Amino acid sequence: MLRTALLALGLLSAATASVQAQDQVLNLYSARHYSTDEALYDNFTKATGIRIKRVDADDAGILARLKAEGTASPADVILLVDAARLYKGEVDGLFRPVKSKALEDAIPAAYRATPTPEGITWFGFSTRARVVVYDKIKVKREDVDTYEKLADSRNKGRICIRSGSHPYNLSLFGAVTEHLGEQQAEQWLKGVVANLARDPKGGDTDQIKAVGAGECQIAVSNTYYIARLMRSTNPEDKALMERVAVVFPNQASWGTHLNIAGGAVARHSKNPAAAQRFLEYLASPEAQDYFANGNNEWPTVKGVKLNNPALQALSRGAFKAETIPLAAVGAHQVKVQQMLDRVGFK
Ligand code: FE
Repeated sequence: MLRTALLALGLLSAATASVQAQDQVLNLYSARHYSTDEALYDNFTKATGIRIKRVDADDAGILARLKAEGTASPADVILLVDAARLYKGEVDGLFRPVKSKALEDAIPAAYRATPTPEGITWFGFSTRARVVVYDKIKVKREDVDTYEKLADSRNKGRICIRSGSHPYNLSLFGAVTEHLGEQQAEQWLKGVVANLARDPKGGDTDQIKAVGAGECQIAVSNTYYIARLMRSTNPEDKALMERVAVVFPNQASWGTHLNIAGGAVARHSKNPAAAQRFLEYLASPEAQDYFANGNNEWPTVKGVKLNNPALQALSRGAFKAETIPLAAVGAHQVKVQQMLDRVGFK
């Protein structure tokens, strides 16, 4: 009898403990897979007692999963690595609007969703620029110092770029559409396709390597891939970076295109207060160091400056970035995909 009672008690306390532990878990769906992010999550757990359970997938995979799971989704926090995808998640109703003075004070308006009376659905926590890498010997800097010149006939057969419909390119082309207008943007895309050295394949690093291999002379890449190669101790990477130079396009006009990595609270989060707390934590200077610096990105939070020698060298200290709201870039993506289909940009 006593034994049974103790057993029941034991079971009871085990059950209580497990309920409490469940309360202290945040389910994070993340498209970021950088080793420095581990330290980021550990520090959050140390500060709050809330454990992070992570599901890794790419942006499209996460959005598809959220849709499929619907109201049953266990997701609390979503981290994506592209403005157009964040915008898509917002439009598809996958995010829960947040009202947070801390986040609104920390993150500039251009790097977050357009506010509604319910709140703001997503926030950017780091920026990356989309720049041009070129063969130092075969290409003149002034031939590639604007995005517009990528469509110029003097660059025929010289360009390597990843798939046109990859989110990084959809966002860049969305920005070009915002700056030039639809008609001119489509003409420009036509010109870029005509200048390709090969059909799009691989990621940004593969395009830079193709320049190194002489397969093309011009590549388009996000800055963190370049910084990663610059910091590499691999002799092949070092030799590659000796051969190429980098230009931040459109310094004399609208500025270089920026994209973001950002986060949102999941629409059906069972733990929205803790999820919001996690986003607020990402805006702290300490977290920005891991989130931005850890992947060689720039912090979005006002007043946070990080010392990243590779980024400093790459941007020559500072550069002019475009100032359009990233929400506008996202809004063009359907149109851009249609243009890509029309001009045959795979
Ligand atoms: Fe990437």
